[in-house]
Amino acid sequence: MTLSRRNLMQTLGLGLAASVAPRWSFAASSTSASTPSGGPLGGAQPAGPILLNSNENAYGPSERVIAALQSALPAANRYAHDEYENLAEQIASLHRVRRDQVLLGCGSSEVIRMAAGAFLGPGKKLVMAAPTFEAIAHYAELSGAEVIRVPLNRVYSYDLDAMLARASSPGLVYICNPNNPTGTLTGRKELETFVSKLPANVYVLMDEAYHHYAGAPPAYSSFIDHPLDDPRVIVTRTFSKIYGMAGMRLGYGIAAAQTIGRMKPYQLQLNINTIAARAGIAALTDSDGVQAAAQRNTDDRQDFINRAQTRNFNPIPSHTNFMMMNTDHPAEEIIEHFKKNNILVGGPFPPMNTYVRISLGTPPQMDEFWRVWDLMHIEGHHH
Ligand code: PLP
Repeated sequence: MTLSRRNLMQTLGLGLAASVAPRWSFAASSTSASTPSGGPLGGAQPAGPILLNSNENAYGPSERVIAALQSALPAANRYAHDEYENLAEQIASLHRVRRDQVLLGCGSSEVIRMAAGAFLGPGKKLVMAAPTFEAIAHYAELSGAEVIRVPLNRVYSYDLDAMLARASSPGLVYICNPNNPTGTLTGRKELETFVSKLPANVYVLMDEAYHHYAGAPPAYSSFIDHPLDDPRVIVTRTFSKIYGMAGMRLGYGIAAAQTIGRMKPYQLQLNINTIAARAGIAALTDSDGVQAAAQRNTDDRQDFINRAQTRNFNPIPSHTNFMMMNTDHPAEEIIEHFKKNNILVGGPFPPMNTYVRISLGTPPQMDEFWRVWDLMHIEGHHH
């Protein structure tokens, strides 16, 4: 298994489960706090480890989305031709773009793969950060492109000057903002300057998977809400995070019509499903549900910070639904400790080898997280 393949699997939350399953002993694991069994806003998850490793929405979809999923079930026998159109039109009108500027994907992962298919290949370069969400690196390598990783700067934002220096035409730059796994933002002004200086024929994929958790800090604005008039910019969004639909696999991309036209040949025929698409429409129009989920996440984030600081640990300020934290110990050891105690957390994320990423869970899940954390008896000394 190559390093990048392993990174991809870990980023997707697959590697740990796969590697550990054969010798998993539930009897030996201490699960004093039982896993919440779910239901609307109960955070449905199967019996098994507490999943704090894939940045899912632990609370599940909103009641309106669950209702839409349920009422769509009888349509499961039909291909999603109409549903695809309906959802694409809804997205176009929501973002005030034309229908031909919208591309739906089986998760935003498929849109990311389409961009790699369209804009990468032998002799081309992908420029990305380290660490960031790794999926695109996998597709870049499959295409035969070279992958260039540029470390984040001191405040865990993108080192755009270094990335610019490495970008060469034709190619693709991947910008994850807010960034996974650090939860940090890269400023709007800096990004605009960066795009304006890029060589012609270098496309930019702005991954806004965590957009709804970013809040409204002055330095941030979405490239969908405030687009650049530049056909090289592709923006992706997902239904997997704030909308709580990761298992339904639904995402989309917005770009100039000619750019969408270049990506579309790499799209799977009939790529999205009828149930997901109908629920997607409900999700997009459920502004109360989104607002409630964002507020709840803000509270959960603050609670995490408080409990970390009580223990003299300082997580990186996060604009997402996960927290990255320096443990001053090898991440593998921390991850293994949690795994033994039936909790999966994210990492390692080289070159940040002493950091782990904790996706925010429900309050009972986080109680269990901190109980298991305290079993480590490690000292924090962060200011
Ligand atoms: N982009 C980022 C930054 C992510 O963190 C993830 C998943 O964790 C994805 C994209 C892929 O999400 P999906 O394919 O479920 O839309």
